[in-house]
Parts: sequence; structure tokens; C-alpha cells
Amino acid sequence: MRYISTRGNSPALNFEDVVLTGLAPDGGLYLPEIIPQFSAAELADMAGLPYTEIAFRVMKPFVGDCIDDDTFRRIIHDTYATFGHDAVVPLKQLSHNHWLLELFHGPTLAFKDVALQLLGRLLEHFLARRGEKGVIIGATSGDTGSAAIEGCRACEHLDIFILHPNKRVSAVQRRQMTTVLADNIHNIAIEGDFDDAQAMVKASFADQSFLDREGLGGTRLIAVNSINWARIMAQIVYYVAAGVALGAPHRPIAFTVPSANFGNLLAGYMAYRMGLPVSQFVIATNANDILHRTLSDNDFSRRALQATLAPSMDIVVSSNFERLLFEAYGGDAQAVADLLAQFADGAARIDDAPLAALRALFSSYSVDDDTILEVIREAQEHTGELLDPHTATGYRAAIRARADDTTPMITLATAHPAKFEEAVVRAGFAGAPLPEHMQGLMEREERFDVLPAELAVVQQYVADHRH
Ligand SMILES: *Cc1c(COP(=O)(O)O)cnc(C)c1O
Repeated sequence: MRYISTRGNSPALNFEDVVLTGLAPDGGLYLPEIIPQFSAAELADMAGLPYTEIAFRVMKPFVGDCIDDDTFRRIIHDTYATFGHDAVVPLKQLSHNHWLLELFHGPTLAFKDVALQLLGRLLEHFLARRGEKGVIIGATSGDTGSAAIEGCRACEHLDIFILHPNKRVSAVQRRQMTTVLADNIHNIAIEGDFDDAQAMVKASFADQSFLDREGLGGTRLIAVNSINWARIMAQIVYYVAAGVALGAPHRPIAFTVPSANFGNLLAGYMAYRMGLPVSQFVIATNANDILHRTLSDNDFSRRALQATLAPSMDIVVSSNFERLLFEAYGGDAQAVADLLAQFADGAARIDDAPLAALRALFSSYSVDDDTILEVIREAQEHTGELLDPHTATGYRAAIRARADDTTPMITLATAHPAKFEEAVVRAGFAGAPLPEHMQGLMEREERFDVLPAELAVVQQYVADHRH
């Protein structure tokens, strides 16, 4: 399997190289050159299998010969053994034909664990085999940082530096990162906001000359945000697993996905392209509604960031939307590059034919903060489930935007309510208890350093602190 860039001007890579890289050199994102296909019989065969076996069958074509089957099975097994539910991602029925897919049973209580637990193990496997060392530098507003740290804590060949905005992440989120005391884990609190942290990470990837200057020549800089293909790949699995559990391929399924960078939903789209019959995808957004505006009004433009009760969906740009645009434009990389150049100037319009193609499969719905609180109450009353604020956007979007009541609708539950207690309390509940493995989090020892938002200082810190 080879991977090509959405902007058409980078050499094709195999799976191993694509996992060990970030953006393509031309600024695009990598996609598989050919999307693997499952026949209806192959899908039907997966119903009832353990999650790990479905994971192997779905991901194997993307990995190709880069990992032998026994090793890949072992990696998958170790990855999902870290989850607190033996179904890994259990499906819960909420009401007639509406299900919740609980993606939050991993170590940090958000869906990002599904992919980052795997990515850490894949990176360790490849780096060890090559005898190389890797450095991850990432910025986080909360969930990605802790999930990446948990995914990499046992990696001998990796150091991970996570920048979070000082005093601007919740105590639970900060402690999930800073209480992991392994030698290769480095938490940096930046005196600035998330954008300052993100800008320094981007600058470090764009110009990697500091590695040589700081004596880190030969070290690989690795991205763990959702531009990394392995994250998308790992997420395809739960769409297939949930779909076949509810009757695919014999009947179509609909999904609603709380969305921001669009990594989660892109994985659903890939499952569809691989043969899973999906009749509708509903994109749920909070007040940061670029995806909703693009789909409903063809308003593909930046707006100022709004801080909401669903902070992990607070974004200005949805980076993975580029991969969907590439598909909607029929693989015309030049058209995608032109569109994104216009967007980089502030605003762009999608052409009629690709927009119509998107609208045939995707619907969207945007939910503001007051509605999030109302939905948390309403869902609890009607179904007994306490939703986290991100999942609440999905719950409302699923009910309002679904095309057809006779098709099973699966809403993705992206975080555990205990992780976002503020919204739960503001909705009028006493709170949500942390699961067993996180009890005592608030008393554990923390380790992090506070640094100014200066690129040279951060890069020097990286050089000085590798284990
Ligand atoms: C990251 C995140 C999202 C958004 O997912 P994308 O893949 O960026 O669209 C939604 N909910 C939670 C809880 C998250 O952590």
C-alpha cells in the first residue's frame, strides 16, 4: 500500500514512512493511493468477532507488508488491553433505533486513546527496528496531549514533549499529563495560549534545522496530531465493528460524530469507502461551526475562536477536511491545492459538483453552549445516560438532522462525563465520578516546567531534556 499527498507534489510513501512523518513536504496530508475494499460477505463475516480481530482485518490492508501478521496481532492485542471494557467500544441503546458508541473506555477517557494507544506502539516498533530515536513535539488544548503521553509512556525509542497553555487546561486534563513521571515524558506549560503553543510546534516541523544545531542530528521529528494516517486508520475499525453489530452489510447505518479537526469523521468516511453501507453522516459542531457553515451555506471561511463548554471541539480550521475535499474533487490535487490557497487567505467556496457530492452523504448541525446544557439534562431524563458536553452536541444533532427513523443511528460518545465535569455541574448534576483507575489523580505528584512562548527556548529545552 502506498500513500499520496492531497496536494499532489510529494513522493508516495509506504505505511511505515507515512506513520513516521507529519505533513507531506508539499503541505498536503497523506491518503492511501487505493482504498481497500470489503465485499458484503467479508463484512458479514466480521459480525460477532472480538474487537481485536476486526481491528486486524480492517487495518491489515493499510499496513501491507510493513509489519508481519503475528507482530501486528500482538500490537493490537496490547493496545486494546489498556481499555476498561472488554468490548473495547461498547454500543448502548438509547431509544428506538438510536445507539451510543462509547469510545471513552481508554486510559484518558476520550476517544483519542483508540488511535494513540496504537500509534505509540507502532512508532516504538518501527523505531526499534530501524535503530532510530524519535522526538514527538505536540501542542494540546487538553485531550490529545494526555492520550499521546499515555500512548508513549513505555516507548524506549521516543521522547515526547507536550506543550499546553499554562493555567488554561482543566485540572483533570493537566494532571492526566503531568502525573506521568516516565523519563521520556516532558510536559511544558507555555506562558501563552493554545495558538502560541501550536505555532511553535508548526515552526519546529517546518524548519527542522534546530535538530542539527542542537546536536540532535539523525533524530526524527514525529507528529501525533490527527494528520498522522495511523490515527485515522485505527478509528475506521469502530465504525465497521459498530456497523456490523447493528446489521450491516444487510442494512445501512447512519452515524453522528461530534467534530472538530474532522479526524474522527474522516475515518467513518473511509469505512464507507471500504464498503460499509452508510446512508448518512451527521457532523455535529459546537459554536465553532466551520464544518456546518461550509456544508450548509458553502461558507468555507475562518472565524475567531470561541471558548465553549466542549473545549476539545474548539477549533478555527478542520485540518482533516482537506482529505475529504480531495475525495470530493475526485482526486484532483491541483484543485484542492488551489482551494486551500484561497482558504489560507481567509475564505473560499467549494465548487458545485463536489459540494453536491458531499451533501448527498453528509448533514450537519451546530449546537451552542446553552443547548449543550439543555441536552445533558434532556438526555439524562429520557435515557438515563449522563453525556459529556461533546457527546451532547452529537445527541442533539442526531435527533435533529437524521434523515430516516428506520435506519439505525449511532452517535459517537467521544468523552467520559467525568472528564468535563464543569459542564455536567452547570447542567445541574452533582458531578460524575472518575473511573477506578483514575481515583487519586488529584493527589499524585506532578512534573512540568513553565517556559515563555519563545521558539528558541522551547527548542533548547527539547535538546537538553531527551532521555
Ligand atoms: C478531539 C475531540 C473531538 C473532535 O474530534 P475530531 O477528530 O478532531 O473531529 C470531539 N470530542 C472529544 C471529546 C475530543 O477529544
